Amino acid sequence: MRYQADLYSDTKTRPTAQMLDAMVAADIGDEQHGEDPTVDRLVERCADLLGKEAAVFVPSGTMANIMATLTLCRPGDELVAHEQSHVLNFEGANASALAGVATRALRGARGIFTAGEFRGALRKPDRHLPRSGLVVIEQTTNLGGGAIWSPDEISAISALAREAGVPMHMDGARLMNASVASGISPADFASFADSVYLDFTKGLGAPFGAVLAGDKAMIDAAWRWKQRLGGSMRQAGVMAAACLYALDNNVDRLALDHDNARELAKGLAELPGIEVQPVETNMVFLDVAGTGLTAIDFDRGLWPSGVRMSIQGPTLLRAVTHLDIGPADIQTTIEAASRAIANKEAQA
Ligand SMILES: *Cc1c(COP(=O)(O)O)cnc(C)c1O
Repeated sequence: MRYQADLYSDTKTRPTAQMLDAMVAADIGDEQHGEDPTVDRLVERCADLLGKEAAVFVPSGTMANIMATLTLCRPGDELVAHEQSHVLNFEGANASALAGVATRALRGARGIFTAGEFRGALRKPDRHLPRSGLVVIEQTTNLGGGAIWSPDEISAISALAREAGVPMHMDGARLMNASVASGISPADFASFADSVYLDFTKGLGAPFGAVLAGDKAMIDAAWRWKQRLGGSMRQAGVMAAACLYALDNNVDRLALDHDNARELAKGLAELPGIEVQPVETNMVFLDVAGTGLTAIDFDRGLWPSGVRMSIQGPTLLRAVTHLDIGPADIQTTIEAASRAIANKEAQA
């Protein structure tokens, strides 16, 4: 089923004709042997963008994250991340299944943990204890509502991590949203991290692709894991061309997604029984408890209008704006929500 306004996730975008044209026109070669000029162009450009020495192209963000864990940790190490993070919740426990790495979940509002919380989680050097092996921060926070880690918040964690000899990985699935919303460059955000990944399938609108960036030695080691995991490709320039197209055309326009998210939040907040969380980027989290509807029933009530959101809790939903959502879709969504509530009231 295709939805007119699919707010389920910013992964729901479909490549445009122009992006597909760029893929068809790509100059290609054998990526596994370093012979694909388009992949080379993409990784050089991303290393630059992220302020790192080198970068490697992979099919998905999940592969980029696990390659960082495999490269930076040893079996028996402990990975520290927020309890709502993607790495701890949506990657099939890959840290333990593939890297032999234990995990430790930290709390904190909006997907962000404090330096104090992190300090308390750092392990002392003691052979009875796991070794703190990696700290992961998510920019922007997904289940935290699209919140942005400020440079001060990141640097406080990074200072403690460096002092303890613990590397930091930035899960930058939506780093470009953070950058466009704050005016802070991706390289500045990433400067605190030893490795950073950027996703092309979220707001940037490509059908696949991610890059992992770090220093040269780290990326060389990550390449070995890419090979082991089966992530080395052949004529991957057709994929990289979509990602380059996204960097050229779909970054600045993220500001429109943020405007649309704010408009949506404003419209929804005016409806009876809906509580909306603050919007920082392209995500709107809404609690519908006051309508008497469950999140599932509220979402179902949107479907006849061609609108869908994602369920995040008994009465909590998430709506994500993206390339395929325009201002008219925002109005459609607000009207659909109003109708879903009115239908419930009519039944009561
Ligand atoms: C989507 C996402 C990922 C994983 O990306 P895939 O390309 O779906 O594997 C990682 N982290 C965050 C925060 C995400 O939202």
